[in-house]
Amino acid sequence: MKVLVLGSGQLARMMALAGAPLNLTVIAYDVTSNAVVHPLTLQEQSQSLAQAIAQSDVITAEFEHIPEPILSLCAESGKFLPTPEAIRAGGDRRLEKALLDDANVNNAPYAIIHNRVDFDHAIAAIGLPLVLKSALGGYDGKGQWRLKTAAESDAIWHEMAQLLEQDSRQAIVAEAFIPFDREVSIVGARDKNGHIAVYPLAENVHINGVLSLSTAIDAPELQTQAHAMFEAVATRLNYVGVLALEFFDVNGELLVNEIAPRVHNSGHWTQQGAETCQFENHLRAVCGLPLGSTKLVRHTAMINILGEDALPTQLLTLPECHIHWYGKEKRAGRKMGHINVCGDFPGELQRNVCALTQWLDSDKFPAIHQFAKQFELTT
Ligand code: AMP
Repeated sequence: MKVLVLGSGQLARMMALAGAPLNLTVIAYDVTSNAVVHPLTLQEQSQSLAQAIAQSDVITAEFEHIPEPILSLCAESGKFLPTPEAIRAGGDRRLEKALLDDANVNNAPYAIIHNRVDFDHAIAAIGLPLVLKSALGGYDGKGQWRLKTAAESDAIWHEMAQLLEQDSRQAIVAEAFIPFDREVSIVGARDKNGHIAVYPLAENVHINGVLSLSTAIDAPELQTQAHAMFEAVATRLNYVGVLALEFFDVNGELLVNEIAPRVHNSGHWTQQGAETCQFENHLRAVCGLPLGSTKLVRHTAMINILGEDALPTQLLTLPECHIHWYGKEKRAGRKMGHINVCGDFPGELQRNVCALTQWLDSDKFPAIHQFAKQFELTT
C-alpha cells in the first residue's frame, strides 16, 4: 500500500522506515515548499500534490499545523486518517480544550482571550498564576507567557495584543497554572474497528518547554486513568491511527495538558522498548491492518539530541544504546535525533542512562545529568 504523509520531518522518516518491512511505501509532502518528497532523502519527486493524493491508498499526517486548504483537499479524497477534526483540534488550543471538555476528560481550567476585557476577566475568574498560550501555531512552549503577578499584566498584554493583531483567527488560551509533580504521556493506537492498544506511560522531562528525556514507566493506577482518558478522546473523535495525550500528574491525579493527533516524541522509546513501535502501529491502523502488540519488551528511555549533529562514537560501544539520526542540517535547539537506551530491568536502565553522562555534556544533555543526580540521591 502507498501512504502519503503530510509533513516531511523525522516522524514521516521514521514511519517510512517502520513501514518498509510490511511493504507499506511512504511518500511525504513538505507543506512549506509544497513539494512531494522522498521521506528519507527529501529528494523532490516529479509529482504534484494532486497526483500524490490520487496515487496513494491512504493519506495521514505527521504534524497538526497543516494549512487548511491542504487538509481540506486531502479530506475530500476520502483517504485521510485520522479525522481532519482531530488534526484541527491538535492545531488549535480552543478546539482542543472544547474536545477535552466534550469527552469529559480532566484538564486545566481555562478561558479564551480575544481582547483586554477578556484578559481581565480571565485573571479574575481563574486567578494567578496564569499560563497564556497562543491558540494557533504554538508548540514546544513557544507562543506562551507566564503571568505571575498583576503588575506584569500590562507588559504581557502588550505582547499578546501584538500577536492577536497579526492574525484575526488568533486567540489566547489562558490556563490555570498547574503545580504538577511530573509530566507523563500515553501513546496508543485505535484501528478502523475501534480496537485500542496503548503503550505503557512515559514520564517526560522538559527543559525550556522542549522534551528532553522520556522513560517508559510502570505506574498501574496512572496507567488506568490515562487509558480511560485515551479511550474517551479517541472514541469521541472516531480516531484511526496513533494518538498521544500529555498529562500533568498532580498527586496521582492526571489532567490532560495537550493532545497530539499523530506519532509523538514521547513514543520514540517504543522503537527499542515495545513489541511493535508507534510508527508501525500508526501505519497498521491507517492501512486497515490489525494493530501490533504494544507490550513493553525492554525497559527503555529516550533522550532527544537537540542542536547537535555528532556524538562521541564511544556511545556505539554501549550495547544497550541506539542512536537515531534524522539527517537534518544543524540548527541551535533543533531536534536532530534521539538516543534510545535500554535495560533488562529498571535498575539496569537507570545504570545505562547514568553511563551516558560520561560521554554527553551537561550543558547539551541536562536531563540525563539531572536524572543521574537524582539516582545517586535515591540509592
Ligand atoms: P505545552 O506547549 O502546552 O505542552 O507547554 C509546554 C510546557 O509548559 C509543558 O510541558 C509544561 O511543562 C508547561 N505548562 C504548560 N501548561 C501549563 C500549565 N497550565 N501549568 C503548568 N505548567 C504548564
